[in-house]
Amino acid sequence: MPGHSLKVGDAEIISLIDMPMQIPYEVFFPAIGADEIGPYKTQYPGSWAGGMFRTHASAYAVRSQGKTILCDTGFGPGPIAFLGNATGNLLNDMRSKGVDRDEVDFVVFTHLHGDHVGWNLSPEGKPNFANARYVAPRADWDFFKPNLEQQQQMLQVIPLADLGLLDLVSGEKAITPEVTTYPTPGHTPGHQSIMVSSAGERLLITGDLAHHPAQVDRTDWSSAFDVDRRLTAETRAKVFAQLEADGIKVAFCHFPEAPFGQLLRAGTKRIWQAVP
Ligand SMILES: [Zn+2]
Repeated sequence: MPGHSLKVGDAEIISLIDMPMQIPYEVFFPAIGADEIGPYKTQYPGSWAGGMFRTHASAYAVRSQGKTILCDTGFGPGPIAFLGNATGNLLNDMRSKGVDRDEVDFVVFTHLHGDHVGWNLSPEGKPNFANARYVAPRADWDFFKPNLEQQQQMLQVIPLADLGLLDLVSGEKAITPEVTTYPTPGHTPGHQSIMVSSAGERLLITGDLAHHPAQVDRTDWSSAFDVDRRLTAETRAKVFAQLEADGIKVAFCHFPEAPFGQLLRAGTKRIWQAVP
């Protein structure tokens, strides 16, 4: 059983789970036929449950140079009607893994979808991470904010700006000398990953650059939730080639198989493999 924490040089990454999610795969990957997906069911059994695509809403905490950075905040307390009234568990999971929510200095969002911003505010509208500044991609703010009626998750984001706690960023932005935002656009216009680089080791927290391990090989498979399917496929191809070539470890927010992995070559295919 892979552990929930990993050292990357002097930094520590702790994986956090908010809630399980199961979605019919033909809803998730409407353009991908059953015959194409079949072999990947055997290869990555943890990403399937019956006929459903099995995933989860998750988050990562990074401890670096005396700071604690929370990457995304899950789907929130719920219940979430379209996921069978699933409820979120992020704050309990943090507590059980020794991450105090008051120690969080920065919350960095990979993007502003609902399953990544859900625990920002308490029911009374107070920040759940009381000592944190919040860092979001500017292009997502510009894309989602004018469309509030369809983008209700922004009700978890806009109050942070009203409180003066939200920093909008673009490009590479250092959070600590070891932790930097890393633009990976396509899933959303401002989608960003988070590079942890310490003492010669590197790990990329990739947000929703991919949702299923088959996509490390089939970088051309985009999901129904990718805003720009062509751009996200281009970004995946470029970034995954770099992760493989440079031996950069990777934390995929939606892979239930294991929280940390690496991309390796097996013949003509690229595979995802868990690291302990
Ligand atoms: Zn997501």
